Amino acid sequence: EASGLQVRGLTVDYRSEGGRIHALRNVDIEVPAGSIVGVVGESGCGKSSVISSIIRQLPENADVTGGTIGFGGNNLLDLSKPEMRRIMGDRISVVFQNPMTSLNPIRSIGKQMIDIQYRSGRSKAEKRKVAIDMLNRVGVTDPEARLDQYSYQFSGGMCQRIAIAMALMAEPSLLIADEPTTALDATLEVQIVDLLKNMQQELGCSILFVSHHLGVIAELCDHVVVLYAGEVVEQGAVRDIFHRPAHPYTRRLMECEPGMIETVTRRLPSIAGEVPGLVNLPKGCIFADRCTERFARCEAEHPELQQISDSHRVACHLADENGGRP
Ligand code: ATP
Ligand code: MG
Repeated sequence: EASGLQVRGLTVDYRSEGGRIHALRNVDIEVPAGSIVGVVGESGCGKSSVISSIIRQLPENADVTGGTIGFGGNNLLDLSKPEMRRIMGDRISVVFQNPMTSLNPIRSIGKQMIDIQYRSGRSKAEKRKVAIDMLNRVGVTDPEARLDQYSYQFSGGMCQRIAIAMALMAEPSLLIADEPTTALDATLEVQIVDLLKNMQQELGCSILFVSHHLGVIAELCDHVVVLYAGEVVEQGAVRDIFHRPAHPYTRRLMECEPGMIETVTRRLPSIAGEVPGLVNLPKGCIFADRCTERFARCEAEHPELQQISDSHRVACHLADENGGRP
């Protein structure tokens, strides 16, 4: 059974020697039940901070200064540690960029894959069969023999496939994935994306998928949220973002990716300039210093997210200048 997720106004600071780092500001992300939502943005834009906030794993020096995270009728930010642990065990699975985060080094892969089916009502033999079948599906060769091995006996790519298999075997209502394919080669990446898609249809879970690979996002997701320097600068259905990108940042990402939809393996190119420091924020648009389309208002006034079609929102003054069209 899929559950939706509603991140509203999420605002997170990190305390640092150089001052408060305003890592997330007023971030809204809606994951409708049963949908796949992608969050895309360069390194340092706040993708992992969003995920850590949702699963309540922010580091010690982080402060959530605003917002709510709605899931299954609760605000996750209000839950006690035990309540949160229960939700994480029962309803939310997470896959990280580093698969070692999810795998237990001192328990065989097979044992871990059997443990995770504790809610399934299957017999031990059936669980073993499901584990073998799952390893097959994620492309582990000779899975029967490999069940008794430990994570250190597998390559990084293999471990990630196993971590994803395990996350899905827990039959979560929501799967959260933080750049799960970034460390994998292109062929594997395509396989993993296909697997996630198929499993999502079978299990009916929702997926929040974070990546800086636009191609993977295009291939996998229904909705896309473009995060830049801690703010949502654009969000929309995948066709809005890829066919009618409205924010200059999104357009820069697109332009550098010819044939992106056909070749899902390209990576985000670098755009001139850098993500700004987040201690002293500019008064105007956060992207203005890198934007080739900026005009006076961009440096003077912060653009709010505005609706430009039913499914499409953008935070850019150009949307006004052009009568609401990008
Ligand atoms: P990447 O693609 O590199 O994983 P990201 O989009 O996941 O990047 P975050 O890791 O969420 O970005 O970082 C967002 C901002 O918060 C960055 O400016 C980063 O330097 C800062 N930040 C993250 N973690 C901490 C921390 N523990 N202490 C201080 N600043 C942090
Ligand atoms: Mg990250």
